[in-house]
Amino acid sequence: MTLPTPPLEPKADALRHCDNGASDCQELLGVLREALELSGGSVLLLDPQSGEIAGSAGSREHEASLGRLHTSAWSEPILRAFRKQPEGRIGTRFTTVDGRVVTAEINYRSTTLSGQTYILIHLQDASQMQAARSQVEQLNQLLREAERLTQLGSWELIHATGELIWSEGTYLIFGTDPESLTPSYEAFLSAIHPDDRALVDRTYRQSVETRRPYQITHRLQGANGVIKVVEERGTTTYSADGRPERSIGTVQDVSRLFAYEQELRRVAFVDRLTQLPNRPAALQALEDRLAAMEADHEASAEMVILSIDLDDFRAFNDTFGADAGDRLLQDVGSILRGLLPDEAFVARLEGDEYLIIHSLQAAPELPSEREAARLRFAADLQQRLAGSSSLGTPLEFLPSVAMGLTHAPEQSSDPQALLQNASTAVAEAKRRGKGQICLYTAEISQRIRERVRLESDLEKAISREQFMLYLQPQVDGSGVIAGAEMLLRWRHHSGYLIKPDVFIPLAERSGQIDTISNWVIEETCRIAKGWHQAGHQAPRLAINISAAQISRDATGLAQRLISSVADHGLDPEMMEFEITETALIHDPERSRSDLLALTRAGFHLAIDDFGTGYASLQVLHMLPVHKLKIDTSFVDKLEHDSAIHAIVKNIILMAHELGLQVLAEGVETERQWDILRQLGCDLFQGHLFGKAMAPAQFQQQFITPPHSETDQTIETSI
Ligand code: C2E
Ligand code: CA
Ligand code: CA
Repeated sequence: MTLPTPPLEPKADALRHCDNGASDCQELLGVLREALELSGGSVLLLDPQSGEIAGSAGSREHEASLGRLHTSAWSEPILRAFRKQPEGRIGTRFTTVDGRVVTAEINYRSTTLSGQTYILIHLQDASQMQAARSQVEQLNQLLREAERLTQLGSWELIHATGELIWSEGTYLIFGTDPESLTPSYEAFLSAIHPDDRALVDRTYRQSVETRRPYQITHRLQGANGVIKVVEERGTTTYSADGRPERSIGTVQDVSRLFAYEQELRRVAFVDRLTQLPNRPAALQALEDRLAAMEADHEASAEMVILSIDLDDFRAFNDTFGADAGDRLLQDVGSILRGLLPDEAFVARLEGDEYLIIHSLQAAPELPSEREAARLRFAADLQQRLAGSSSLGTPLEFLPSVAMGLTHAPEQSSDPQALLQNASTAVAEAKRRGKGQICLYTAEISQRIRERVRLESDLEKAISREQFMLYLQPQVDGSGVIAGAEMLLRWRHHSGYLIKPDVFIPLAERSGQIDTISNWVIEETCRIAKGWHQAGHQAPRLAINISAAQISRDATGLAQRLISSVADHGLDPEMMEFEITETALIHDPERSRSDLLALTRAGFHLAIDDFGTGYASLQVLHMLPVHKLKIDTSFVDKLEHDSAIHAIVKNIILMAHELGLQVLAEGVETERQWDILRQLGCDLFQGHLFGKAMAPAQFQQQFITPPHSETDQTIETSI
């Protein structure tokens, strides 16, 4: 604007006509000051008689430009108007000395000073005003546009009057307009989602009180039920005596951003398959709940962290395929969710491992009772889970699960450590067998550390000649020796005899199983060759082949077996291989060609632990198998469980139909042996006939005829 705001104090030297004495001068000054205050622009006093300027107040430049201008250029139209009407407003155009054409807006009024009439003129450059106005309008437009684009609005609250002023953007965000609503703090509060209202009110009031700006994200609830998320910022100014004067602020619609953030959170914290929270979400939940517990100072509350792992999930996946595996995982997830109260946290960590976080309110005082309560919670869940039907899979019921428990804050208040504890406990539960529940203890961790040490010892076991092969007799229906299973033993340098259940899984994981297996094959061949050379009639020797080896390199293994036996000049007919069903299901087509290579070479093949996996007899039909070994778990329950009795009966019937022999493992009692014989079982193995024993003892008892009458249940040192 070229008409700058003039200084409030009119300049004395501008009062050229002020020659009627000091009092008049004062009066004139007073009028001009008042006029200036009222108008906010340049003010002139015009003498209607002479048409000359009697005084002026405004910027020096302004005065200069007007002074050098022939007054009549703009005074003529004013004088004309003044004669008609003593007060009014006119618009006029004139040219300044520097050739600029000015469109002026002039307000005039008559005033009397020392008995003389003057015209008091307020002169404004209309063209500049126009430009300024349109500039302001443009800026406003831009601001409105910016507000619209950024979904931003601004507001101002005048504390003295309670008046609240909203920008256009604010009206838009609140879904209303100036015609329908007069903004007030109360109207603002009532537009806030009821659940957030108290917090927003408190935050604002605290900000005014503490003199600190505030920022809060909250929801708005529109009349039509539409919920928006807004981010609000505000600050307050204060008078010199400390009273709040104005609060100003902005409000921004961040609904889209919020939804986007929610979506990001969802993707980052939700397991895609089951839609349950995932591991990062579980860690967060643990952290939140631990913090809440600490804040609560509720000494009796306890948090149970339960890790759940499905039994035989790999086998299930191999048998029914990955799609069915996915459906099973979804089933388990939704069933778990359904079985637990809403406040319990259920997550899928990875694979077939789930996590439950549950608060046991008012946990008992006594440690033993607390432990019992934890176990009860786990056992109850385990039982209800096992009784749930599986909807999306070929199974009727969900498979059994292993459970590992830890509890907070007693065992740890670190989320990572708690997850680790629960995983350790569930790994231990799995190690113990199916459907086990294990409570985390420091000893378990210790045992795991020992296992790691054992793994490194295992590497040196062969070179230190710590392995031994034991033999366990297999007999026919009349108790006559029909074969022997080669069972590996590890004489650790600590003096302990370590069972294969402990170190075979370690060797499978570390890859040492190949070397160990080669040793077993060589040692079996060496024993057989010794008997052969001594002219003994040795029974068929059965070697266990690890599932891990079959799935890794079945072809290489078959070739090695064939060449080892050939190198020792042995008859492959005298050798048998025991393979668990799960090892074959993985890729039956490939297994078939590798197994065929073995059977064509003359080796016998037995399916170990039959009934514990999901292999169907049809699958076995494709494979060149000679024998089924019914798992110990069936033989155990044979006497008392009629369902198991029926299953075993059917396995034997169908196996016979397929031309397979059946061997029952783990026969410990005469009664079991009787029942199995009645059911038509062909061969038997178990403590009733002999435990695994050293080759020398086996030879003495089963190969070289013993001196006394046969005593087939000789106790061994194992
Ligand atoms: P498996 O192949 O099922 O072997 C039978 C297991 O049952 C043996 O345990 C045996 O001692 C035990 N057993 C036999 N009769 C009875 C009985 O009447 N009652 C009871 N309670 N148990 C009986 P072991 O020797 O501890 O072997 C455990 C597992 O280790 C074997 O199970 C087999 O899977 C694996 N294993 C053993 N030796 C080798 C080996 O050389 N290579 C591989 N890859 N695995 C082996
Ligand atoms: Ca076996
Ligand atoms: Ca077995």
